[in-house]
Amino acid sequence: MPVFEFAERLKQLPPYLFKEIDRVKDEVKARGVDIIDLGVGDPDLPTPDFIIAALQQAVLDPGTHRYPSYSGMNDFREAVARWYQCRFGVTLDPEREVVTLIGSKEGIAHLPLAFNNPGEVNLATSPAYPVYHIGTMFAGAQTHFLPLLAENSFLPDLTQISGEVARQAKLFFFNYPNNPTAAVADLDFFTRVADFCREHHIIAVHDAAYTEMAYDGYRPPSFLQVPGAKEGGIEFHSLSKTYNMTGWRLGFAVGQADVIEGLGKIKSNIDSGAFNAIQYAGIAALDSDQSCIVENCRILQERRDTLIAGLQKLGYRVEAPKATFYVWLATPTGIGSAQFTSLLLEQAGIVTTPGNGFGAPGEGYVRLALTVSRSRLEEALARLARLG
Ligand SMILES: *Cc1c(COP(=O)(O)O)cnc(C)c1O
Repeated sequence: MPVFEFAERLKQLPPYLFKEIDRVKDEVKARGVDIIDLGVGDPDLPTPDFIIAALQQAVLDPGTHRYPSYSGMNDFREAVARWYQCRFGVTLDPEREVVTLIGSKEGIAHLPLAFNNPGEVNLATSPAYPVYHIGTMFAGAQTHFLPLLAENSFLPDLTQISGEVARQAKLFFFNYPNNPTAAVADLDFFTRVADFCREHHIIAVHDAAYTEMAYDGYRPPSFLQVPGAKEGGIEFHSLSKTYNMTGWRLGFAVGQADVIEGLGKIKSNIDSGAFNAIQYAGIAALDSDQSCIVENCRILQERRDTLIAGLQKLGYRVEAPKATFYVWLATPTGIGSAQFTSLLLEQAGIVTTPGNGFGAPGEGYVRLALTVSRSRLEEALARLARLG
């Protein structure tokens, strides 16, 4: 028995599925194996120099050392509005329709505290980023999972949601381009979600973390491009993947003014906002010519092409993702996610993430992240070839 008992909400946390992988990883490492880590969704490429320079300059100004404003400095929210206008053609009121976040995970986790009462239901796709479900649970609400299946191009089938669930639902979390499946959604799908949410008075919550990581000239849309969507929901975006800034902790939510206000109210009672100097660096990133994104995608696309071509040559049936830096790989017939993950680690020194770690419908897949150089991917492919 622990000296101090955890609260029920911690006891309800799902078992940590990566514990066994971490154990095997340490064991393989101790054997002196050179590990190729394709497990974590964290860019290996550095933050562009001009963004670092903007931080260096901002941090010298003592004005940035004080408490930030709760909803984010006006200049940053205005830069977000300019970026949305330029990138998506969506007009935002920086005052009422934008809130600065300490990374989008923070905002996603806090949103249910603003809108859910205990016992309520939120909808979330599955497999998914775990924060939708855990934020919901911490607010005392429950998640109704919508499975993402290959036969539906990893889009949820809205016609499978019963009238009763739709009536109870408060928030609907979805994410395209998608982590972990790398699936993309078009405006037609977003329109169906917007209509569904409007009909059932549900707040649409789109996680748009990967809209800037796309290939072959494809430009993923914003949910807010759907006419009227801005009145029915919000969208989260983050500088983490877009500008290789995961460690900096800077993101934002945009959309329906009352939803933004509710999230802001929770935040103003819990945190005190993002460091102003980091917000200045964020402005430099958002106001830049965005050529750093083009260069980033060029590197990731080369890696993608190397990995996909190599996997296909080895007989894996896998398609090149149009966006994200993930490859969602079906496991060989008769081998489950956990077993395939262990096999790759123990026999090839390759770390992947088991698909079922993101939710039960992810069983039968592993997720590979394009977070190592091309030569390391070639080494991984050579090891796979030796495995047979
Ligand atoms: C990486 C990621 C984020 C971004 O998280 P930050 O807290 O902004 O670093 C959000 N959603 C998904 C699905 C992600 O994979």
